[in-house]
Amino acid sequence: MKYVGAHVSAAGGVDQAVIRAHELKATAFALFTKNQRQWQAAPLSDTVIAQFKAACQQYGYQAGQILPHDSYLINLGHPDSDALEKSRSAFIDEMARCQQLGLSLLNFHPGSHLKQIDERDCLARIAESINIALDATQGVTAVIENTAGQGTNLGFRFEHLAAIIDGVEDKTRVGVCIDTCHAFAGGYDLRTDAACDDTFAEFERTVGFDYLRAMHLNDAKSAFNSRVDRHHSLGEGNIGHAPFRYIMRDPRFDGIPLILETVNPDIWADEIAWLKAQAA
Ligand SMILES: [Zn+2]
Ligand SMILES: [Zn+2]
Repeated sequence: MKYVGAHVSAAGGVDQAVIRAHELKATAFALFTKNQRQWQAAPLSDTVIAQFKAACQQYGYQAGQILPHDSYLINLGHPDSDALEKSRSAFIDEMARCQQLGLSLLNFHPGSHLKQIDERDCLARIAESINIALDATQGVTAVIENTAGQGTNLGFRFEHLAAIIDGVEDKTRVGVCIDTCHAFAGGYDLRTDAACDDTFAEFERTVGFDYLRAMHLNDAKSAFNSRVDRHHSLGEGNIGHAPFRYIMRDPRFDGIPLILETVNPDIWADEIAWLKAQAA
């Protein structure tokens, strides 16, 4: 079974995201559980939590079909200890919000070294940040996303993801989300079935499909190996349709949220319908 959807808006409350996903005929969705550009958010009220759970029940979404994403401000590998502390507290709060909503995954970008520490130190800090957050919460898996490698962001090599997982104590609550645009911009070709075979074989060797908890399905405005993060609608960018058809027909991608973060929300319903048709 393939679960397909988009990163929908939670404007008006997290329960509204569920309704928006349903309107797209999505079988998965992503959302922010707080404003992604602010550090502070009001705690989730009992009413909001109940409304979210009721909406999920009504429209048939289980925790494994929902992929919350954390704030863009958080840097779990921050070189400065005060700033790292601030990011770690905010991340625990994000994990706790997921737990309150009955969710089982939290998707995040690993972190950035800001040219102040080396890659190894930064990756070790990220792993320790995850350990601290897993200790402080229950039932939520930390889902590390690969990045395009823009600026000083780590996570653009599968080896970075493997190194972080290696430093996490509870391997049952850590996983990865592979973003097709980020992989392509990071130097992993996906433009043909043969390229997909090679890229996903390398993923299996380096990280392993056992850790795959989600995918972000995005075409790329950015060029191959450009280390630039610019999403495009499926088939309209430099990647083309190949990997999306490939993923929809490959059972290694069953049972996890496959999420569009493409640039035109007006065609999300069409993109979701197209993806479902590829699996048929
Ligand atoms: Zn993404
Ligand atoms: Zn991106």
